Amino acid sequence: MKLKLLSFLLLTFILWIGYSCGKKETPAPTSPTGQNCLEGMKSSSFNLFGVQKDIALGLETEKEILSNPSSYPVLDSIKYASAYKFLYDMRNEILNSGLLTYKNEFVWKLKIIHDDSVLNAFCTPGGYIFVYSGIIKYLETEDQLAGVLGHEIAHADKRHSTEAMTKQYPLLITSSVLGLDKTTLGNLVTSLIALKYSRDNESEADAYSVVFLSKTRYKCSAGAGFFQKLINDGKNPCGTNPTAKYTSTHPCPDNRVENFNNIGNCYQCSSKEVGSTAYNVFKNSIPKSPNMP
Ligand SMILES: [Zn+2]
Repeated sequence: MKLKLLSFLLLTFILWIGYSCGKKETPAPTSPTGQNCLEGMKSSSFNLFGVQKDIALGLETEKEILSNPSSYPVLDSIKYASAYKFLYDMRNEILNSGLLTYKNEFVWKLKIIHDDSVLNAFCTPGGYIFVYSGIIKYLETEDQLAGVLGHEIAHADKRHSTEAMTKQYPLLITSSVLGLDKTTLGNLVTSLIALKYSRDNESEADAYSVVFLSKTRYKCSAGAGFFQKLINDGKNPCGTNPTAKYTSTHPCPDNRVENFNNIGNCYQCSSKEVGSTAYNVFKNSIPKSPNMP
């Protein structure tokens, strides 16, 4: 037993040395005046999982999601090809910003979950992105959705899921995901789907949404639009008196709006929005989801 623990610690140490020497990161550009726009922001921390594990875990998570259409009713990508094309074009603009670390290693596959009641999107490790029709229909401009997509892409590109798993499941670092038994893998995938990112991870994903969009035709701070709309519509989950429980893991929408805008101003990028004309055509091409009255 002692020997097992010792070998585990030794292996972890070797992996850590490898991590420290081989950490790959595309740096955020400076502002036009040479300023570091992300100064003081906590960036991704310790992650002992290899990049290949992000890819393997993402694939398993996608399989699990696709095998459960009652919880995750995916919109048919053949029947609604034009909606998917709109989303993929938006994705390509962000990927082509030249500012991702894993543009070529991860799959960056998109699926629309046909549920108008959910205002959310998420991205698994390895770049499997799921966008609910609810958030697509809630947002008002193409730029706002690009901001949300940039945020989700940042979570995967910064490898936030496996960073969280380094803390939660350290023993998995040394095991092959594909070699795991079905129950363990199932539990792992379930916890990945329900994973809550840390407050620092959320702030970093917001910041990189601005960084990525700064090299596209979109308004770079447009991710603020979703949170501003939540506030305007009285849907601010922090309310006027934020609870400690919520704010310990999530930055409040008003702080997020401020951060998006500050970083956007620092980059001096376009404040002009691409707008809503094409976006409305895209929204209208997605029918009402069957669970809506
Ligand atoms: Zn997030």
